[in-house]
Amino acid sequence: MADNEIEVAIVGAGAAGIGAARRLRDAGISVLLIEARPRLGGRAFTVDGGSGMPIDLGCGWLHSADRNPWSEIAKAQGRTIDRTPPPWARATTPTGSPSPDQASFHEAILDFREQVAAFPQDGPDRAASSLLEPGARWNRLLDAVSTYYSGAELDRISIRDLMRYGDTGVNWRVVEGYGTVVAAHAAGVPARLGCAVRAIDHAGQRVELQTDEGTIRAERAIVTVPSDLIAREAIRFNPALPEKVEAAAGLPLGLADKLFLSLAGGEAFEADSRLWGRMDRVDTGAYHIRPFGRPQIEAYFGGDLAAELEKGGEAAFFDFAAGELAETFGKDFASRIGPIGMHPWKADPYARGSYSYALPGRADCRAKLAEPVDDRLFFAGEACSRNDFSTAHGAYLTGLDAAERIIALHRPKPRK
Ligand SMILES: Cc1cc2nc3c(=O)[nH]c(=O)nc-3n(C[C@H](O)[C@H](O)[C@H](O)COP(=O)(O)OP(=O)(O)OC[C@H]3O[C@@H](n4cnc5c(N)ncnc54)[C@H](O)[C@@H]3O)c2cc1C
Repeated sequence: MADNEIEVAIVGAGAAGIGAARRLRDAGISVLLIEARPRLGGRAFTVDGGSGMPIDLGCGWLHSADRNPWSEIAKAQGRTIDRTPPPWARATTPTGSPSPDQASFHEAILDFREQVAAFPQDGPDRAASSLLEPGARWNRLLDAVSTYYSGAELDRISIRDLMRYGDTGVNWRVVEGYGTVVAAHAAGVPARLGCAVRAIDHAGQRVELQTDEGTIRAERAIVTVPSDLIAREAIRFNPALPEKVEAAAGLPLGLADKLFLSLAGGEAFEADSRLWGRMDRVDTGAYHIRPFGRPQIEAYFGGDLAAELEKGGEAAFFDFAAGELAETFGKDFASRIGPIGMHPWKADPYARGSYSYALPGRADCRAKLAEPVDDRLFFAGEACSRNDFSTAHGAYLTGLDAAERIIALHRPKPRK
């Protein structure tokens, strides 16, 4: 595609970039997706887990599935939607910890959520850890859940941001993989893969994107890279955009890493059940046993624990998981499990983490990051979403919003 033919260049081919690109292309506007990785999808990433079982190393759950646009896209692609409620939303046969403990912790989570919902709309924001009753029994596990949910411990999380998150409570999965659906949605859209954008010059008539493969010029650009990369100025803007760097710095990427394990002789476990590694510490894994009824365990690690384990690679994750599982099921259990796959999202130079959270007092950074600059530079991606941040559907909706704004600019003005 010749430079002078590109109306909109889109930096990043994740859920936001692909969503924007499809909408613009369908409106007859010429687009080019520019993606640093050699693949589409970004943090939506399905790989072959062996025996024909796709596994999602990034997003897996269609959160708010009853209003999630990816649900309809997946159906239109002919995918199989699994509507089994997630293990965190139903009582499963207690595995590991005794049932009264699980019920008591469930109460504590509901209580915490009620406190978040009741937080005053106006007035100063605070860290979510301030909602914990000092010394209460489940504080550590509540903190562990925060590392799965937000990718960080509660003392770093804004209550105001948490309370803005919209969740219909309906969670589905796609058997073929969420990442498969996101990547396939880019079919037919021109894309340049393996082409990192290093700088964006928006001073002249056309926006100039300096990439590893030369300069690409377009009328407008949509930037969808993760917020951490904007905060680190991995892409330099000319003129500089200090307000964007500042907004992105308020929205760091939390960390959550999944390790998939094969499980031999797992039939005794209820399908889609869950086990906490420990219920009395923050540094613990959540183990989803027999996801989709498969002979696997999907282990989830977040926050500081995941960051520490990444230093030792997959072997460190496996050793940690094997140790925790052996505490519950006995030391022979290790011989029944083996690593299938994982992706270290913090070490990934094109992500630097898993999903964004807002620091206390910084919830409004999401709207600031999303504001267009001179109707020529647009920003999208999960961190720009006020109510669906940290999700693939939130990312998609911000991409769609940027596309709609551009379509409105392209419409012929009504004659006087
Ligand atoms: C372990 C894990 C579990 C998750 N679970 C869920 C879940 O169950 N449900 C859910 O909804 N969400 C989940 N998420 C979050 C979800 O995956 C993300 O919110 C969403 O995919 C982000 O989409 P995006 O388009 O905003 O960003 P990205 O997918 O990160 O897309 C941005 C793209 O920009 C590219 N890029 C970066 N730098 C450059 C550059 N300089 N030049 C060109 N391209 C560049 C990147 O390679 C990437 O492809 C999970 C994420 C992780 C990591």
